[in-house]
Amino acid sequence: MLPNFDYVRPKSLRAAITHLSDGGAVVHAGGTDLLGCLREHVFAVKKVVSISAIREMQGISEGTDGTLRIGALTTIRTVAEHPVIRSRFSGLAQAAAEVASPQLRNQGTLGGNLCQKPRCWYYRGDFNCLRKGGGICFAVDGENQFHAIFGGGGTCFMVHPSDTAPVLMALKATARVAGPDGIRDVPLETFYVLPEVDVRRETVLEPHEVVTEIRIPPPAAGTRSSYRKVRARRSWDFALAGLALVLSFDGRRVVDGRVVLSGAAPVPWRSSEVEQAIRGKELNAEIIAAAARAAVAGAEPLEKNGYKIPLFQGVIEEELTRMSVSA
Ligand SMILES: Cc1cc2nc3c(=O)[nH]c(=O)nc-3n(C[C@H](O)[C@H](O)[C@H](O)COP(=O)(O)OP(=O)(O)OC[C@H]3O[C@@H](n4cnc5c(N)ncnc54)[C@H](O)[C@@H]3O)c2cc1C
Repeated sequence: MLPNFDYVRPKSLRAAITHLSDGGAVVHAGGTDLLGCLREHVFAVKKVVSISAIREMQGISEGTDGTLRIGALTTIRTVAEHPVIRSRFSGLAQAAAEVASPQLRNQGTLGGNLCQKPRCWYYRGDFNCLRKGGGICFAVDGENQFHAIFGGGGTCFMVHPSDTAPVLMALKATARVAGPDGIRDVPLETFYVLPEVDVRRETVLEPHEVVTEIRIPPPAAGTRSSYRKVRARRSWDFALAGLALVLSFDGRRVVDGRVVLSGAAPVPWRSSEVEQAIRGKELNAEIIAAAARAAVAGAEPLEKNGYKIPLFQGVIEEELTRMSVSA
């Protein structure tokens, strides 16, 4: 059952930030993640601030310099189906189409997708884990088959749940963040917080801050992007292993590339190892196999998630091969 809380639906961003500055208040966008957290008593709130009536946070537009601006309230379905995103940033459209179910994509927003809370069953369940202020990560000696193989740092081993964040990070996107002191632009690269830095927070957002839009810079000539998600079943499910690729080619040679893994770590996990292994090279079978090996060389699986190592290797090999064929 949902607990009691105050509910407000301001029409302006300024009013929303004022409400959020009261303390104990939380942003509500589409509510597909938040209401589950409140129903399951994952955390308590005094006030829910719906941002759904703030018009300036909706819509998609292209700047004259080619920068794409996506309002944080844009639904996941709109992101998946938008013609400009499908043609210029196809990896983002693929990732959005992989989120949850049609109903959730209709209701869920891009801002909510980036800011959603961890899906770890100990965090969501009745366990006072580290992330909720307790003393241990129950996954370490528990049911850890869906947990992190990178970046746990001996603290929290949840995996970051968003499908769109890895592609946006690979596309060098920034989040525009509004708060009582004004606006700041945060690269997605530095938006997420590793548990070893602060186990109580997932992002750099302060409680009174709102993501208003996502900006994606124009890609270099010859750039292609993709997102591949492997899940345990074909209906809605979070990534067991995922791969965001943004590669720019000169002919068949990779000029530059950004590679981000999902389902791997508590944050979208940039694989500089793969990037180094393919930069300046033509993607033949030998280079691709070496890149896949490099990706998992530093992995630290827990007792029940060692299967993720060959899974990531396979996904990386398949997707790099696919990109090389279409280059
Ligand atoms: C059954 C189920 C399956 C799912 N499967 C997937 C999946 O496969 N892949 C995936 O990526 N996600 C999945 N999700 C997660 C999520 O519901 C969606 O990703 C959705 O996009 C969240 O958006 P929302 O607008 O509903 O967020 P909300 O529920 O409104 O908010 C989520 C969180 O983000 C915060 N927030 C929302 N908007 C902002 C903002 N603009 N600024 C600051 N903070 C904000 C809220 O305070 C809250 O903590 C799933 C959810 C469910 C219930």
